[in-house]
Amino acid sequence: MRPKLVVGNWKMNGSRANNATLLAGIVEGLGNGKANAAVCVPAPYLQQCADTLAGSKLAWGAQDVSIHASGAYTGEVAASMLVDFACRYVIVGHSERRAYHGETDQQVAQKALAALNAGLTPIVCVGETLAQREAEQTNAVVGKQLSAVLELLDGDAVERIVVAYEPVWAIGTGKTATPAMAQEVHAQLRGQLRERSAGAAEKVAILYGGSMKPDNAQELMSQADIDGGLIGGAALKAADFLAIIHAA
Ligand code: PGA
Repeated sequence: MRPKLVVGNWKMNGSRANNATLLAGIVEGLGNGKANAAVCVPAPYLQQCADTLAGSKLAWGAQDVSIHASGAYTGEVAASMLVDFACRYVIVGHSERRAYHGETDQQVAQKALAALNAGLTPIVCVGETLAQREAEQTNAVVGKQLSAVLELLDGDAVERIVVAYEPVWAIGTGKTATPAMAQEVHAQLRGQLRERSAGAAEKVAILYGGSMKPDNAQELMSQADIDGGLIGGAALKAADFLAIIHAA
């Protein structure tokens, strides 16, 4: 059995004052929950996470990483810098970065590789747009997005990634994929990992993201291939985020 993982994606939200309240609320409510939990915060708040969360059960990470190790890349943040702030995770290839920053499947794969090389766990996001789903291209689109990553990673490095299936039409819209719809895509992704290796299929957590809330989390996460959630809006309120963690 893969342990469940629930990750909050704060996106570009937060302030030192609000974060302090939110993080304290989450840590206090975690108790002896069985699920692994983490928050991926804007880079300027990584120090605050390192200061407040060290020794707690809540891990932290970033929302993007450079493919470069260091040098003249203004505005970029290197994987080694995330390690400096004791990050465990980094989200790569979120659909907002693919859409607004033109990230390609190949660049996303390079980001996953840069993260792994630094000892971080990349959370590789894949997902189709509404137009692609309506044109019945979902399997082809997410298949290609995952393939690019599998092609770049050697050997059992694949076993150290996390995958997040996030249908673009479900993100921040209140529209959730039904558990059956999500499970179908997760099973396909699992199959793709299995073609690479039985170990990867067994070990890699595949999270669902897209309007996951306290009232739909349990049903989604009870599907055979849904190993947790990547949570946007509902991760900004301690009570909602905790309810999802406890549903896992
Ligand atoms: P949402 O966002 O939960 O607000 O839909 C999920 C995500 O974009 O990771």
